[in-house]
This record gives sequence, C-alpha cells and structure tokens, in this order.
Amino acid sequence: MPIYDYEKLKKEKAEADEEFRKKCEELEKLRTSTISLLDVRSPGYPEVGRIQLGSNKYINYMRLVRFLTMGSLLEIIGPIANRQLYEAGRTVGKSLAEKYGLSRGASFEEFVNKLQEILMKEGIGIPEVVKEEDKVVVRLHECIASAGMANVGMTVCHFEAGIINGIYEAWSGQESETREVSCWGKGDNSCTFVITKRLF
Ligand SMILES: [Zn+2]
Repeated sequence: MPIYDYEKLKKEKAEADEEFRKKCEELEKLRTSTISLLDVRSPGYPEVGRIQLGSNKYINYMRLVRFLTMGSLLEIIGPIANRQLYEAGRTVGKSLAEKYGLSRGASFEEFVNKLQEILMKEGIGIPEVVKEEDKVVVRLHECIASAGMANVGMTVCHFEAGIINGIYEAWSGQESETREVSCWGKGDNSCTFVITKRLF
C-alpha cells in the first residue's frame, strides 16, 4: 500500500510551483471558517487536493453541480438526499467490482489490491486500507469529490461511500454499511470510511 503524506507532497510542490503555492494560500483562506455547501466557492481548488491524481475544470464543474444540488435537496427533503446518493454509489461499486473482475470470497489482500486498482484507475482516489477486529477502515486520499474543497462543516462523499460499500459487498457477499467519519468537507486532509456489518 502507498504511504501517502499529503502535507509533505503539498510542501514539495509549493516550493517548486509558484502558481500552486498561491492556490494553496487561497484555499487556506477559504478553510479558516465554515461556508455553506450552497456557496459557489464550496468546490475549492481540486488541484491543491489532488497532487498525484491531478485535476481539471471538469472536476470543478462536477462538484459545483453536485454540491449545489445536494445543498438544495438537503434543505428540501433532508438527510435522505444523502442516502439516495449513497445507494446510487453502491450500485456503481457493484458494477465496478464486476468490471474489474473482483471475485467473491477472494483473500482480503486481493480485495485490498483490487479496491486500490479500481479507485485509482477510475480517478476516484488513493485508498489505504486497515482491517480491525469488527470493521474495515478505508482512508481515501485525493478524493475526487472533496480533495481541496472548502470547509462546509459536513461530510460530502456519500456517493464514494456507496461505491466503497458496493465493492466490499461484492467481495464479501455480506450486507454492510459504510460511514464516512472524516472528510475534506469537515476540514480534514483526507476522507475516512468505516465499513461494518449491516445491522438493520
Ligand atoms: Zn469526503
């Protein structure tokens, strides 16, 4: 698994690239306080958060559509809006597992390697996976939805949580639940997902 150190990568790039350094400063200003998900500045600077995977104007546009749609839906129908995005991601995750040939019941190591291959090749992020007694923790670096975004005071990667959950379920054959516990959207420098057995 990669040993990923965001602060180190950022520092090295900022020293070599003046334009990047300025964007880092702009993002820093944007993250000193919380802004609304509905603020057009919420996508932030994806290129500052995605040093290895890279970014482009389309990622910015995707975030704008997603955040402003989600922000409005949250106001109209409440948290169920996030669940809808999660379930859609879950379907995508199951399809990706099939597309990449992840077989049910393969070893945990194979699952981890395949998860890494899928998420990196699809440009979704760079995962580090740790298995604990009753849960699996996935730390996702450079998340396509949130890396380099403003602090909006909430987790925003519901679609990606669904994708990870769908891939995990396709491998384990067990109904599970994936929760995002830390996120760029809350002021962190990576997103952390916890996979547990589904209890309801
Ligand atoms: Zn996130």
